[in-house]
Amino acid sequence: MTFISKNTQSWTIVQISDTHLMDQEDLKFVQMNPEHSFHGIMRDIQQRYPELDAIVHTGDLAQVPVPATYARYLAFMHRLNIPFYQIPGNHDEVEYFPFHQQQNRVHAIHLGAWTIMLLNSAVKNQIDGRIEPSQLAQLDQLLTEHAGQHVIVACHHHPFAMQSHWVDQHKLKNTADLTEVMAKHQNIKAVLFGHVHQDSLNIWNNIPFYSTPSTSVQFKPHSDDFALGQEAPGYRVLHLKDNGEFDTQVHRVENLVGQINNEISGY
Ligand SMILES: [Zn+2]
Repeated sequence: MTFISKNTQSWTIVQISDTHLMDQEDLKFVQMNPEHSFHGIMRDIQQRYPELDAIVHTGDLAQVPVPATYARYLAFMHRLNIPFYQIPGNHDEVEYFPFHQQQNRVHAIHLGAWTIMLLNSAVKNQIDGRIEPSQLAQLDQLLTEHAGQHVIVACHHHPFAMQSHWVDQHKLKNTADLTEVMAKHQNIKAVLFGHVHQDSLNIWNNIPFYSTPSTSVQFKPHSDDFALGQEAPGYRVLHLKDNGEFDTQVHRVENLVGQINNEISGY
């Protein structure tokens, strides 16, 4: 559990996702250099939001999940002097990175009247996702204990179909188990996830579920087969007020990278 405190009634947090970093910084992923676009995104975040309270990375830090990749990511993030948190994605190797969910525990970040609960939906050697019963039980308990708090839940995989056949094969597979827990509580304000490399909004039970663009390549929305999107890399910002109101928007950062390869056909 982490507490971030200051004398304020509002908080600004940024969600980044799917950095897909390589083991060496000069290598490309789908002919885009993910290191360059990640750094460009972080520069934009710092310029636009110098008073940032936290950064949450919703997974797939690494495309090549080896210690060198994670060491470079950590060194870069530490220099920013902003509290930062990560959730493992399907491409990540939890043994090589100090993810808070190492033991499949929910990690709670407290910012005044808000609590962000990070879940692990990644399953070793699988692209699709699942949240284990032990974590769901813990989530249930935390939601009860924080009944007076405004809660944001975050995981890597998309709980609801994106109307994109290939992407939806890789969704969270036990969404019904998650929504069963969520339905018992009144304090969840939003759900955040990555994995789908696009901006989206689904509403369930009056709760918005947001996905966030990758800091590298984008996937084309509503495509039955694998296809890349033409949108620029991006991130999501959320402004949280202590009265429970919030607003959110996605920023895209143009001209970070050169030509991307649309001929690629794998995930
Ligand atoms: Zn993923």
